[in-house]
Amino acid sequence: RKITIAIDGFSSTGKSTVAKELARYLGYIYVDTGAMYRAVSLYALQQKIIGKDHFEVARLIEELPNITLQFQYNEKLGFAEMHLNGVNVEKEIRTLEVSGYVSRVAEISEVRAKLVQQQQEMGKNKGIVMDGRDIGTVVFPDAELKLFMTASPATRAQRRFDELTAKGDAVHYDEVLENVIQRDHIDTNRKDSPLVKAEDAIEIDNSYLTREEQFDAVLELVSE
Ligand code: C5P
Repeated sequence: RKITIAIDGFSSTGKSTVAKELARYLGYIYVDTGAMYRAVSLYALQQKIIGKDHFEVARLIEELPNITLQFQYNEKLGFAEMHLNGVNVEKEIRTLEVSGYVSRVAEISEVRAKLVQQQQEMGKNKGIVMDGRDIGTVVFPDAELKLFMTASPATRAQRRFDELTAKGDAVHYDEVLENVIQRDHIDTNRKDSPLVKAEDAIEIDNSYLTREEQFDAVLELVSE
């Protein structure tokens, strides 16, 4: 019997790592909802709807029908990549620049409504692992398994920093930490679907867990 697995938590808590491993192991579909909010932000940046000193919410809402998001499975990588209006933007959506705007874009109710609807559509047939901020609370409140991942801000910033530098991005640890803390703040304080642990979610603090330990712990929960 296939189930729906909802994984929520703060940024860089290792959500996507667990989600990807789990999906591969179970033969499920993996959906990274953060990639969708990032792609909308990238579009807004490209169209100059948002930028250093402007943030045109009304115009972004108006343009939403022109934004098509699609996940395309990459056989070689073993996971799906984000395509924005037919273009693979997997790399562009992961920059610190996009990270700097994405939480403000994700505060817009109309943006959330569009993406949540698409996410629910993707999950219609069970056998899905979805990670984000509101999956267990809003997208799939009836998910059979809900996980809420946490880790200290310093642990998370170090991970994000390592990821970015591995890709050759010239970033400073301090600006990464600041971004992590700033996004936590916006995500937990926004009016629409703030980041909270669903009542029936199981909390996993992975600050001190290795990747293997974490995977084993989660797998045990799936088989229960
Ligand atoms: O998961 P990731 O860090 O890539 O998500 C980027 C941002 O997108 C989050 O900081 C949050 O503001 C937003 N987001 C959201 N709801 C989701 C997934 C992501 O608001 N389900």
